[in-house]
Amino acid sequence: MTAALSILTTYTSDGARAPYEDAVGGDGLLRYKFQGNREHYTNVGLQRAFELRLPLMWFFGIRQGLYLPFFPVWIVAVEVEQSQVAVALDEAQRHLRIDGPVSLIERGYSERITKQRLHQPVFRQRVIQAYETSCAMCHLRHRSLLDAAHIIPDRETHGVPAISNGMALCKIHHAAYDENILGVRPDYVIEVRSDILEERDGPMLRYGLQAMHDLRLTLPRRRMDRPDHNLLEERYERFRAAG
Ligand SMILES: [Zn+2]
Repeated sequence: MTAALSILTTYTSDGARAPYEDAVGGDGLLRYKFQGNREHYTNVGLQRAFELRLPLMWFFGIRQGLYLPFFPVWIVAVEVEQSQVAVALDEAQRHLRIDGPVSLIERGYSERITKQRLHQPVFRQRVIQAYETSCAMCHLRHRSLLDAAHIIPDRETHGVPAISNGMALCKIHHAAYDENILGVRPDYVIEVRSDILEERDGPMLRYGLQAMHDLRLTLPRRRMDRPDHNLLEERYERFRAAG
């Protein structure tokens, strides 16, 4: 039992910045920082897990005292000078060359794995927790019908996976928001697009969409978890342009 079994990233509230101090390296692999000095037994354990090529579990903080587990993960490099290790989230990342130049294709693939395997599930859980498992628009409380919607999409550079760039929305309101069928003003009031307001149809249109017009979002209790004003404004401008 000389090698580390697990690593742990504690929850830190993130405000408008990306919540990961465990940054992604130039090869698309996540880095995990040493705790304290290099000789500390936890860091020696990481070194040992690397040498023995042992799988580990990574516990990722979703909120105070609540973690999302990822396993198996592997330490594929120890970078002493930067006080960190490189962590592979799957077999493909495990066999990536990290001691030499990585091609653009390899890097892009590796970054996508990191996003899909870790950033997206962590973002989803953090946002849904912050909104107490409830749609910010209609209050629906079925976890399996809820998504973490991005205000600025994550394919854009400032579309960071931070709670303040997200909202917990049910599937229909998430899709309607992405399609600019409804928008959210920077003062958190929902606007339904004018042509949609004029349509006549069944209960999903009337109660599911039109009835959201002029309602205010139900927001997380903690101010820092609420949608960022500037991000909302930027996104609202796009909604206006679409109308
Ligand atoms: Zn909803």
